[in-house]
Amino acid sequence: MAGNIIDVHCHLFAFDLKDGFVNTQFIRSLRMNSYLKGIGVDPYDLNDPYFYNIERLHEEYRNAMLRHIEESALSHVVVLPFDGVYDLDGKLDKTHTSLYVSNDAVWELHRLSPDKIIPAASINPVRADWREELAKCIERGIKIMKWLPSVMSFSPDGGAYFPVRRVEEYSSHINEFYDLTRDAGITILTHVGFEFALPVLKRLYARLERLGLPLSKNVSLCAAHLAGGTPYVNRSGQFNLMKIMVKARANLYFDTAGMSSVHRKARLKASLADEIIHSRIVYGSDYPIRVSSRPFLTELKAAGLLEEFRDTKNPFDRDILIKRAMGMNNDDFARGYELMNQ
Ligand SMILES: [Zn+2]
Repeated sequence: MAGNIIDVHCHLFAFDLKDGFVNTQFIRSLRMNSYLKGIGVDPYDLNDPYFYNIERLHEEYRNAMLRHIEESALSHVVVLPFDGVYDLDGKLDKTHTSLYVSNDAVWELHRLSPDKIIPAASINPVRADWREELAKCIERGIKIMKWLPSVMSFSPDGGAYFPVRRVEEYSSHINEFYDLTRDAGITILTHVGFEFALPVLKRLYARLERLGLPLSKNVSLCAAHLAGGTPYVNRSGQFNLMKIMVKARANLYFDTAGMSSVHRKARLKASLADEIIHSRIVYGSDYPIRVSSRPFLTELKAAGLLEEFRDTKNPFDRDILIKRAMGMNNDDFARGYELMNQ
């Protein structure tokens, strides 16, 4: 596989309390089971009938991920922490948080593979200590900030989420948050559109339209999953909005995270076929989300990559081959470096 490849969207999960947690419901879900199996970690094979050997699961996940990164064709991979839901006092709300991975956990992980792993940050702007946490991440030279507003339960446009007593405070500090991230050259990598991978609290917060405020403040943005859209079809209204936004803003990108799946194929195909959108595509895998090969066999065959794909076990490399077969070129795979130099 020729050329530099940077993956801007790879998830660390944390199962122990030092680095974060996965809540009881989510850890037992079919989704989690599928992610773990997809990377070769069998939760039922961990010498515990309830697979609650948390330390072991934590280690197994990290080891599988590090090995896959090391052995892959990737030149660099941005590993994402994942902030939680916060209550009205700005404290972590453990009941509504399904996944939490601290910024420190990812920072520590990158020391184990410093040549390949680029650590990102994740800060819910609702948390009481967001200024301190952001200052720490800026100090560390972090360039990517991961958000999933519909799961983390905040609105990127500072809109009406809070009861009256906090609306004013939130709308003023979200502006400050954007000023600080922009001035530090941080790109906000934010989930847009429907979400099946994690339990959703407020679906509307993930709408593309909600990104108007950060764009107007000239914050560099990367809308994950090619801005989502609708499963299985590429609706023209939503797609046209992407084009309008791209024409208006030079610092708006779209990643391909999770696009190697049947319900996202239509959006991937349409995005690569459109000259304007294509020029803003950056590569993201969404590891450990599973790559499904069946919907792409025709394209893999047509591109002469089917045999190589069948011989490839590495989840990153399998994802790269599918996206290459769909039409991503070397420039697309390397475009993520632009996000590091905002
Ligand atoms: Zn993701």
